[in-house]
Amino acid sequence: MPSFNELGLSPAMLTNLGRLGYQQPTAVQGASIPPVLAGDDVIAMAKTGSGKTAAFGIGLIERLNVRHFAVQGLVLCPTRELADQVAKALRELARARDNVKIITLCGGVAIGPQIGSLSHGAHLVVGTPGRVQDHLRKGTLVLDKLKTLVLDEADRMLDMGFSESINDILSQLPSQRQTLLFSATWPSAIRSLSEAFQNDPVDVRVSDSESAPDIDEMFFELQPGQQTDALAALLSEHQPASCIAFCTTKQQCDDIAGALNDRGFSALALHGDLDQKDRDAVLAQFANQSCAILIATDVAARGLDIKSLPLVVNVEPARDSEIHTHRVGRTGRAGEKGKAVTFCTPAQGHRVNRLESVGVNALVWGDTGQLLGVTDRPVQPAKRTLCIAGGRKDKVRPGDILGALTGDAGLDGAAVGKIDLFEFQCFVAINRDVAKQALKRLEAGKIKGRKFRVRMV
Ligand code: AMP
Repeated sequence: MPSFNELGLSPAMLTNLGRLGYQQPTAVQGASIPPVLAGDDVIAMAKTGSGKTAAFGIGLIERLNVRHFAVQGLVLCPTRELADQVAKALRELARARDNVKIITLCGGVAIGPQIGSLSHGAHLVVGTPGRVQDHLRKGTLVLDKLKTLVLDEADRMLDMGFSESINDILSQLPSQRQTLLFSATWPSAIRSLSEAFQNDPVDVRVSDSESAPDIDEMFFELQPGQQTDALAALLSEHQPASCIAFCTTKQQCDDIAGALNDRGFSALALHGDLDQKDRDAVLAQFANQSCAILIATDVAARGLDIKSLPLVVNVEPARDSEIHTHRVGRTGRAGEKGKAVTFCTPAQGHRVNRLESVGVNALVWGDTGQLLGVTDRPVQPAKRTLCIAGGRKDKVRPGDILGALTGDAGLDGAAVGKIDLFEFQCFVAINRDVAKQALKRLEAGKIKGRKFRVRMV
């Protein structure tokens, strides 16, 4: 494996990568960075967690002419969450250079502010296909100076029906450009896309032994109605610091989360019926370690920025093998050991049998009787979350909250975890043993000289 020093990067980028803690290129980075820097087209098979964002991002930043104020790079992503994540990663990489302007253009949010940002100029745009098309149509996004197009998670964009949008966008780009295509899977539609829009691409397929994550995958046959008991047993046995259990329906998410809570486990449901505020609260609690178990639908969990989970559970087998692969791919990332467990009733057996065709080797079946015999031992999250009814709009900053907690409230800074600031509210993770004390003190005291409502979530 080459080191970053051997890949032809600028000294500033090398220093920056050191600061980000990237010591060695991942396999996909080692193979992609040289052709990306050389301006070649690349088609790379790379999953989330393989370091794919930096594999294209490093080259995007290095190839920028910062003094030229025009959009030189466009990254298309399937979802807003992924686009936000990519933009965040690009901003970190761009610290190697001065004044790189990066804009996200995603659907589901007001278009006005995006038009305002675009009017000030940008070097790189990260967006979802529909909204990028909207801006092209309005003439608010001009791509005639584009040097590089990146299609990130191209397979998911096609799955989500963005094929026409992508074709439309591609037809409006300069023909002299670099096209980088990243995809987790290799269906024929991806090969056709590459043939249509790429010019003699360098094919990066990292050998399976290097990219294969270390996941211990197991299956249990259940009778209908045993899912909650089996899940509680599994959690009691493994005591994971965090776990996502995937369900098919919203109702099932709510039912299982409710039943687990009744048994003393801290579980939250994440599905499409939650409004943005509730969704933010659920994700903040999961990410800040005050809730260990998320019961989620696939759609709601899409694009979640969670580094690696020690345990993923399929409460029912996924209907589709690719969804199964996506779910299971959330564990065992970045060299950590992962565990994936799938429950299956006899009537759902065909879904599991299909998995063998996508490379899940011999299925390992666990002993259901033994599993169901495990007594409940609820996972206790390390932290609890306080919600403060003040946010960015109130000019509250994380430092103010930390100050209020460690100053007046007399807490040790080490007891304060993640602080998630939103427009109108803020979530603070506090060590479980001092959370009540922190709540009392915050209720009695002030933040930035003002009183805010505070509650334990
Ligand atoms: P990605 O596959 O792009 O979603 O990246 C997965 C995670 O790996 C991100 O949190 C990156 O910050 C991290 N990462 C990417 N490249 C490296 C590297 N060479 N060394 C260490 N961490 C990395």
